[in-house]
Amino acid sequence: MVIKVAVAGAKGRMGYQVVSDILENDDQELVAAFDLHGVGEELTQGIKISSPDEMENVLQEVKPHVLAEFTNATAAVENVKVAARNNVKLVVGTTGFSASQFKELEDAITGHVPAIISPNFSIGVNVFWKLIAEAARQLQAYQYHMEIVEMHHSHKKDAPSGTAVKAAEILSGYTTKGASKFVYGRQGITGERTDEEIGIHAVRADEIVGEHTVLYAGKGERLEITHRAQSREAFSQGAIKAIEWISGKEKSRIYSMDEMLKELEHG
Ligand code: NAP
Repeated sequence: MVIKVAVAGAKGRMGYQVVSDILENDDQELVAAFDLHGVGEELTQGIKISSPDEMENVLQEVKPHVLAEFTNATAAVENVKVAARNNVKLVVGTTGFSASQFKELEDAITGHVPAIISPNFSIGVNVFWKLIAEAARQLQAYQYHMEIVEMHHSHKKDAPSGTAVKAAEILSGYTTKGASKFVYGRQGITGERTDEEIGIHAVRADEIVGEHTVLYAGKGERLEITHRAQSREAFSQGAIKAIEWISGKEKSRIYSMDEMLKELEHG
C-alpha cells in the first residue's frame, strides 16, 4: 500500500527535504503540503501549498495516512491537534517545545492517534545518544566534567537544540553528585565550576546543518563524542523511515525513535 503523506512546513529547510525524499520514494505519495509561505503555489506536480488555516478541510479531503510536522513549536501544537482529531498519524520533528506545549501534544495524541516524536530523526544521532550515556556511565565514578556544545545555522529559532536538550537529560542521570544543574553558556564572574554542572553551549553560524559534541574532562585528558550532520538528508531519511513505521502502528500513543530502531533492528 502506498502511504499518503502530508507535510507541514513544506517550504522550510527540513520540510522541503522531506518533500523531496517522499517524491523519490515509490512507497509514499505526497498528497498535501502546508506552509505560511507560497500559499497557492504549485510545490510539485498537482500539489499546491495550502495555508495552515485550510489544514482541517484539506486533511478531510485528501485523507493522508501521516502528517510530517517540521515547523516551530507553537505552530506544531496546533497542527498536531488538527491532525489528531482527523485520525492522521504523526511524525513530529519540530523542536523547542516547552513542558506545557509538550503536555498539549501528549493530550492531543494519547488515545487518539499513533505518533512518533523525536528532536532528531538521524540514525547517527540516535546512536550518539546511546554512546554518550554509556561513556557517562563508565566515567561516573571518576568525577569527569561533562559539557555539551551544539552548532547550527544562523536561521535556527530555538536554542539549545532539541538534540542537545535530550543529551543533557541523558547526562543528568550520571553526574558525580547525582543531581545536575544545567548551565547555559557562561558569562561574567561565574565562580568556579561545580561538579554537578552540565554546561550547554549553542553556536549559531552561517549554514551549519547541525553538530553536537559531548565532552568529558578528567585529570589530564578529555574524551569527546561528536555527531556531524553534513546534509538534512541525515534527518529526512530517518523521517521517511518513521513515516513508514508509524503508518503500521495502531496504538494511539507517542512512540520514540528508539522503539522504532529497536524494532527495525530485530526485524
Ligand atoms: P524553517 O526553515 O524555518 O521551516 C519551517 C517552515 O514552517 C517555515 O517556512 C515556516 O514559516 C513554516 N510554518 C510556520 N508556521 C507554520 C504553520 N502553522 N503551518 C505550516 N507551516 C508553518 O525551519 P527548519 O530548519 O526546517 O526546522 C523546522 C523544525 O524542525 C525546527 O523546529 C527544527 O529544530 C526541527 N528540526 C528537526 C529535525 C529532526 O530530525 N527532528 C532536524 C532538523 C530540524 P515562517 O518561516 O514564516 O515561520
